[in-house]
Amino acid sequence: MKILLLGLIPSLLVAQAQPVQPTTAKPGWQWTMDSVVKVVNTVRAGRSLQPAAWPNGARVAVLLSFDVDNETIALRFGEPNAGSLSMGQYGSRQGLGRVVKLLDRNKIPATFFIPSVSLALAPEMADVIKQSGRHEFGVHGWIHEMNTGLPDSAERALLTKAISELTRLTGTKPTGYRAPSWNFSPNTLSILRDLGFRYESSLMADERPYELLQNGAPTGMVELPVEWIMDDAPLFDPRGDRYSPPREVAQVWIDEFDKAYEEGTMFLLTMHPHISGHRSRIVALEKLITHINAKGAGRVWFATHADVAEYVRKQAKLGEPKPRTGPASDGAR
Ligand SMILES: [Zn+2]
Repeated sequence: MKILLLGLIPSLLVAQAQPVQPTTAKPGWQWTMDSVVKVVNTVRAGRSLQPAAWPNGARVAVLLSFDVDNETIALRFGEPNAGSLSMGQYGSRQGLGRVVKLLDRNKIPATFFIPSVSLALAPEMADVIKQSGRHEFGVHGWIHEMNTGLPDSAERALLTKAISELTRLTGTKPTGYRAPSWNFSPNTLSILRDLGFRYESSLMADERPYELLQNGAPTGMVELPVEWIMDDAPLFDPRGDRYSPPREVAQVWIDEFDKAYEEGTMFLLTMHPHISGHRSRIVALEKLITHINAKGAGRVWFATHADVAEYVRKQAKLGEPKPRTGPASDGAR
């Protein structure tokens, strides 16, 4: 099947994929076991926060997220051109409205993770998203920067600026973070803890919510895990090289939902208005919603990421996020 070729897609062609950075690092076979353990433990999955039951007898929690990247995909590496910028602008001009209309017609809440520059370029998006009163805004970096390429001070400064700009443009203070391209640096978790985030959604160790550990210690930070299978960007390769037909993509998502429903866990899907907002692709989301509503009528909890994070925090008696102790920067290995 075409979608099994994901690993072969040139990373720069894909909106969210991780570009390969040149490295002078020693290969793993030259490491001591101490180094292996230290690196692995920097950020790792801790206890599961899967609740015994979801609210109102629901069998499954469904979390839809939209990463509103738009022009920042073209801007982040500093070599934008009119063509790639216009592909991004489609997100605010056309894609977002189509997505929000579908959600609002079905009374489904969603979370919109937005790079602050993306919203500053099209501030009217905030009102479109706010209209129903159901949706959440989350932080998605300043200009979709790649965290692993930044020194701690720059990553921290960009994120601080991103939070204040997003708060100004939306009128609400975000509580959740998603790393651009899910690119999480060794400093990211410390910065998120210092800046008061309550949940994070960029890592992939489970399908159920879990607590993040930092250097082996519990943090009180809720992780709502993602996966490339559950992301529209790799499946809808914009160059058409390994393009997956939207109806086939819908089937992947439907199968993922069916298993989540059977197991009573969580279904978290990441999409992008500039990708899934196209006419032929919105069909995939429509098919998914139709399937969920038919199969799980009354037994599905559609919720924002923040609502799920707070629910599982309470059910697991996780308490508040724990303040970090130690130096301002612990990125050094
Ligand atoms: Zn993104």
